[in-house]
Amino acid sequence: MNLFSFLLIDISLFFIGLCIGSFLNVIVYRLPRNESVIFPASHCPFCNHKIAFYDNIPILSFMLLKGKCRYCKRKISFQYPVVEFISGIVLPLSFFLYGFSLTFFVTFIFLYLLIPIFLIDMKHQVISDKITIPGIIAGFIFSFFIKGIQWYDSLIGIVVGGGVILVTAVVGKWIFKKEAMGMGDVMLFMMIGAFLGWRGALLTLILASLLGSIVGSIIVAKRRIKDTVVPFGPFISIAAVITYFFGNFLIGKYLSLFR
Ligand SMILES: [Zn+2]
Repeated sequence: MNLFSFLLIDISLFFIGLCIGSFLNVIVYRLPRNESVIFPASHCPFCNHKIAFYDNIPILSFMLLKGKCRYCKRKISFQYPVVEFISGIVLPLSFFLYGFSLTFFVTFIFLYLLIPIFLIDMKHQVISDKITIPGIIAGFIFSFFIKGIQWYDSLIGIVVGGGVILVTAVVGKWIFKKEAMGMGDVMLFMMIGAFLGWRGALLTLILASLLGSIVGSIIVAKRRIKDTVVPFGPFISIAAVITYFFGNFLIGKYLSLFR
């Protein structure tokens, strides 16, 4: 493939990714509110005015409107262009790494599942099984077709991933007398296990706990409150992305310590 067509594909993928990001923003807003993600068309969250297509162009509209609703002039969250941009990068990045292959397809699906999980849990402390259940099924089906993982690895991943979190949640509740993790976290780990296998799920758990305890202690120290609820889902999502791309490297490094 020559450089020109490579760039052309990358740029097209970036624009498709932007539109997917725009849709993910809709999911993040509507799913926790139990609204349909398809109807009605986009409207301003403040004044409910319908947003015209020319005001709904990813990133560009946000810049042209200077981050404000055209009608009520209230501030639109920075989350919108940021999610669009990150989603825009996902497709060309996956293509750069894997070319047009099934792994390319699986990679961007996995990342696009994690983006709304990250945001919804951060904002509402909820991990929606409307995302995780289709994710578990998709991850398991993909495992029959891609090279990186065997179907039984995916199946064991679902059981071990979910099981470990379920045990942690039950034991945690028994020891600390409060809900440390919920069924949402269990489902999320089943999904991660389906995509990454049991080793990947366990590595994700270790990385997420590390990230969570570092960031969590900073937040608690800053706010000086002990009972601040720090949702675990965002850390799990970031840890899952790290594991997806660097998991084999990290597991290899770790095992080599014992050789
Ligand atoms: Zn408005």
